[in-house]
Amino acid sequence: MQRTSDLKRLPAVSRLVQSRPVAALIRRHGHELVRDLLREHLDRLRRQIAAGELTGRDLQQAVTVSAISRAVAAEIDGLLAPSPRQVVNATGVVVHTNLGRSILSPEAAGRVAAAASSYVDLEYDLAEGRRGSRMDHLEPLMRRLFPGHSFLVVNNNAAAIMLCLQGLGRGREVIVSRGELVEIGGSFRVPDILVASGAKLREVGTTNRTRLADYRKALTARTGLLLKVHTSNFRIVGFAEETGVASLAELSRTSGVPLVVDWGSGDLVDLGPLEIRDERPVREILDAGADLVTFSGDKLLGGPQAGFIVGDRDLVARLRENPLARVCRLDRLMIAALRETLTAYVRGRAFQDVPTLRMLAATAKEIGQRAERVRRAVARQTGQGSLMHVVAGVSRTGGGSSPTGERPTRLLAIDWPDGDAAPLERCLRLGTPPIVGRVQEGRLLLDLRTVLPAQDEMLIERLVAELRR
Ligand SMILES: *Cc1c(COP(=O)(O)O)cnc(C)c1O
Repeated sequence: MQRTSDLKRLPAVSRLVQSRPVAALIRRHGHELVRDLLREHLDRLRRQIAAGELTGRDLQQAVTVSAISRAVAAEIDGLLAPSPRQVVNATGVVVHTNLGRSILSPEAAGRVAAAASSYVDLEYDLAEGRRGSRMDHLEPLMRRLFPGHSFLVVNNNAAAIMLCLQGLGRGREVIVSRGELVEIGGSFRVPDILVASGAKLREVGTTNRTRLADYRKALTARTGLLLKVHTSNFRIVGFAEETGVASLAELSRTSGVPLVVDWGSGDLVDLGPLEIRDERPVREILDAGADLVTFSGDKLLGGPQAGFIVGDRDLVARLRENPLARVCRLDRLMIAALRETLTAYVRGRAFQDVPTLRMLAATAKEIGQRAERVRRAVARQTGQGSLMHVVAGVSRTGGGSSPTGERPTRLLAIDWPDGDAAPLERCLRLGTPPIVGRVQEGRLLLDLRTVLPAQDEMLIERLVAELRR
């Protein structure tokens, strides 16, 4: 049998570990890891030979010591490489959930690094020399941002909602409009969270219309909560009606049933000047009478992953006592990042210092100037200027924030001589660092709104390298 004799050509592990290249790998990465990966690689070759997939010259090549050691070295590199990798977001989607949502300011990132590599006074009152609360690090800033309200910050907004539902609605009915039984993405579905919390869903109204009277009729002695959900990622247009926070708050007051509002993106400042509609600052929702508002830390707020619960003192106190609060508590790195992010708001510098807001605030003109600079530099170095144009387009806020949250932008559009720029998109995505753009109608579109200005030079270099190929 040819295949049986082929199998015999695979070198033995004992011989391989004595070879120079494998011995070098062992010195760097240890005997156990290298030996295990060697065995796995040899098993793979064995299967390929047995299946007749590896023959002739390919086989001859694959069974050499140098080919095997190179394959194992590549395995080790992949296994031990840092991950997640830093990527360049040229999609123009600012809060891009798949790319990590918001990025931190250098100051906030610095606080994370400092808190990560040292013991910190996380739950320790240094003045008194006794136990403190991790929320104390955020308390003075939150008091300024939400005067008269209490707060709790947990791991993410999904956890914040779960905590509210479980803590205040378990075993009782929670009234929600059928128009707000939404899926936010990443398998966050309001009805599922409700059921998982032990609360009972009481749907009212219809998909497109829910009136105050629908809520009122559903109120019984079993009602535990009124829940309103920001339908952040879609919009019902036309014959539609939803009941606003103010009217629900009125019903909540007269009935004594707390009103919880999941405000999704949770911006702390007025984004009106950016013409991002549907997103009102959290303060306004509280002023309108919501008892508790929950929102994310890493969407329009521009901080780390976190979930805020802000509002009524007594309700928050009950939630802080809840065992679930311990289950989904915020870790010290996020507290450090969040505190630094919140200082930007307290100082009135959010649009300068919080990258998410700075990116959203950039005008199409500013972005166009950067795109034009990149275009000229690449054209000059490659002589391929005719392939590149700066064109009008739209950036998106993303992250399940306002569905109408589009900002006019200028895009660097690159045509490919063969007509389809997909291969260029792929090369940029697979290179180092990966550059993520999008192809539309055969053109590669890069939106510099979400590219850090400090990355422009690198983008030029990468484009020059790809266009020269
Ligand atoms: C994004 C979002 C959530 C989930 O928030 P996470 O911080 O991702 O857990 C919940 N509700 C709404 C309305 C959202 O937009």
